[in-house]
Amino acid sequence: MPRRLDPREVRADFPIFSDPKWRDLIYLDNAATTQKPRQVIDAIADYYARRNANVHRGVYELSVEATELYERSRKRVAEFVKARSWREIVFTRGTTESINLVAYSWALRNLKRGDRVVVTEMEHHSNIVPWQIVCGLTGASLSYIPVTEEGYLDLSELDRFLKGAKLFAFTYASNVLGTINPVRELVKAAREHGAVTVIDAAQYVPHAPVDVSEIGCDFLAFSGHKMCGPMGIGVLYGRSELLEEMEPFQGGGEMIREVRFDGSSWNEVPWKFEAGTPNVEGAVGLAAAIDYLSEFGMEQVRSHELKLTEKAMELMAGVPKLRLVGPENPKDRCGLISFTLADVHPHDLAEFLDAKFRIAVRAGHHCAMPLHTKLGLTATTRASFYIYNTEEEVEVLARALRESLTYFKVS
Ligand code: PMP
Repeated sequence: MPRRLDPREVRADFPIFSDPKWRDLIYLDNAATTQKPRQVIDAIADYYARRNANVHRGVYELSVEATELYERSRKRVAEFVKARSWREIVFTRGTTESINLVAYSWALRNLKRGDRVVVTEMEHHSNIVPWQIVCGLTGASLSYIPVTEEGYLDLSELDRFLKGAKLFAFTYASNVLGTINPVRELVKAAREHGAVTVIDAAQYVPHAPVDVSEIGCDFLAFSGHKMCGPMGIGVLYGRSELLEEMEPFQGGGEMIREVRFDGSSWNEVPWKFEAGTPNVEGAVGLAAAIDYLSEFGMEQVRSHELKLTEKAMELMAGVPKLRLVGPENPKDRCGLISFTLADVHPHDLAEFLDAKFRIAVRAGHHCAMPLHTKLGLTATTRASFYIYNTEEEVEVLARALRESLTYFKVS
C-alpha cells in the first residue's frame, strides 16, 4: 500500500519547513527546484560519513561499497523510468548537460549541411541553444513547431515539419505554459520520418509516472534537484542501440578502456559517457529521492498537484486583471501556473508576495525568452506546486494577489 499523501505530514519530512526562519514560508517555486526531505539529506550525509571513496577504481572494500552504491542508484533510476536496462541510464549534471551530451555526441557527428533539426516554440533555453550551436557548426537548419494562443503545440503541420528531419527535440511539459505534450504521438510521428527523438522531461519526471520503453523515445533528460534530489545530478536515458553507436561526450578517466600514446579506446556504455570522478553523492541522493517519492507513488503525486492546480486556477480566475498563460484545462497542465497581473512588473509582484506574505514565486522569462516574445510578454510570474503544498497555501496566494491590486493601485 502506498503511503497516503497528506501534505501536512509530508512537510514534517522537510527540515526547512520547521526551521525557525522559514516556518511560515509558502514555497511555490518548485519548478525551479524542490526542497529536500530528511531521507535525502540523511542518505547524502551517510554516504560521506560511512561510504566515501572514489568509485570503479579501488580494489579495497570501501571503494567496492561506494561503487556498489553508485551503480545501485543507476539501477534504481532505470527502474523508476522503466528503462529496459540500467545501461540506458547515463548520469549527468542535469537536464542541460544531458541535452548537450546528445547534441555533441550524436548531433554534431551525424548532422551535415542541409539537414534539419526540429524543436518547438515552448522550449526552455537548454533545449534550444545546444541545437543552435550544433546547427551553426554543421550547417543544419533549425525549425520551430509553433505554439497556439491557447498554449498547445500547433500540430496541424507536424508532418511537413518532420519530413526529412534528422532530430526532433521537445519538452514533455512546458516550464512556462504548464502544457503537457502528447509525447507518444510526437515520438510516433518522428519515427515514421526517421528522426531521432529527444524529450526534455525536466518538468514531468518529478510529477507523474514515466515509462520510457512505452513512449519509445530515443533520449529523455531530467534533473535530480527538481524531484527532491540534490543539485548537480541528472539523467540521460538513451536507447541502447544509439548509446552503443555514439562517440563519447568528454574525454578523461573512467570513460576509456585503453589509452596509448597513439590513441585510445572507449569503456562500455554507460561509463563511456561519464568521464572523470562522478557525482556519487548526487547519485545516492537521487536514488533516495526516488525511494521517497515511490513511498507515495507517482500517480498520487500527480493527482495531488492536479488538485492544487485546479483550485489555484479557479481562485485566480476571480482575481481582476489577472491573465493566465497556458491551457485552460488544468488536466492538460503539470502543476505550474504562469500569469501576468495588469501591468505590474512580475519582479515587483514577486517581491511584494515575498515581503508581505512570505510567498516564494518565480518572476522573469524562466529561461524561455523566445516563448515570451511569442506571447507578447517580457516576463511572467510563476507559481509551481509540489507534494508539500497545501490547499490553504493556494488560498493565501489568491488572497495575496487580490491585495496586490490595492498595493499597486491597479484600477
Ligand atoms: N528544461 C526545462 C523544461 C526546465 O524547466 C529546466 C529547469 N528550469 C531545464 C530544462 C534545465 O534544467 P537544469 O537547469 O536542471 O539543467
